Amino acid sequence: MNTAALQDAARVLRRAKRLVVLTGAGMSKESGIPTFRDALEGLWAQFDPEELATPQAFQRNPRLVWEWYEMRRRRVLEVQPHAGHYALAALEKRLPHVTIITQNVDGLHRRAGSTDVIELHGNITQHKCFADCRGAPTLLALSELIGDSVPPRCPHCGAYARPNVVWFNEFLPAEALTRARDLCLRADVVLIVGTSGVVQPAASLPYLAKRSGNAFLIDVNPERDEIAPICDLFLQGTAGNILPRLVELMDA
Ligand code: NAD
Ligand code: ZN
Repeated sequence: MNTAALQDAARVLRRAKRLVVLTGAGMSKESGIPTFRDALEGLWAQFDPEELATPQAFQRNPRLVWEWYEMRRRRVLEVQPHAGHYALAALEKRLPHVTIITQNVDGLHRRAGSTDVIELHGNITQHKCFADCRGAPTLLALSELIGDSVPPRCPHCGAYARPNVVWFNEFLPAEALTRARDLCLRADVVLIVGTSGVVQPAASLPYLAKRSGNAFLIDVNPERDEIAPICDLFLQGTAGNILPRLVELMDA
């Protein structure tokens, strides 16, 4: 890792007034949560994620999709945030405004102590009514689900329960996306961690910040992905390694 680039990034961060952190699946990898491709191991290797993560797939085979998500939900509840998640949470004490905009559904940022987190793709530990019978989303606790079926059903309307995540072919929660766009337009520093920049519309957020002309963009990723070329600094390495060093250097 280029130490000069890390020091430059620390210097920029120290002065940030409105910091936005954009995170993707790579952020959680060192906690032991596989990316989509990695998740399809063993029993699941025969399925394409786009065949499991759509409303159409759920309607075709609700049991299969429910079980895939239950397997992933249990995994998420077993793992812990890593040093990178804690380093981001620590930034809240040093800087006036820090918002994390995540594509991850695992809830690890909040578990690490970050308080302003926009979950663009929902949260896999929560469930909701497939029909959203009492408004979107109609969140349901596991304990209130009814029936012996797999998946179990909504106690209000009898529709199947489903995970509270955004599937392919679905819209992102409108309020979350609007706030995310607004924050990216007004940010002075955008820190991007562990996203390949291919899943839309989340992938457009760094470009929005860039076009505003106000933001300094920093990318943290072991690979030079799609977003690196538009960033002002590219820090090559993993979230768990780079982020704690970055926050430490801010104090140096
Ligand atoms: P992606 O899988 O397309 O890309 C992951 C990126 O992380 C790659 O650029 C990779 O080089 C980088 N990376 C790998 N290891 C890393 C590390 N240790 N530190 C930092 N970066 C690392 O991920 P995406 O862009 O988030 O898009 C995938 C979609 O899948 C998203 O929509 C997301 O909602 C969903 N997803 C979420 C989770 C989760 O909640 N943890 C897991 C799998 C998939
Ligand atoms: Zn319902």
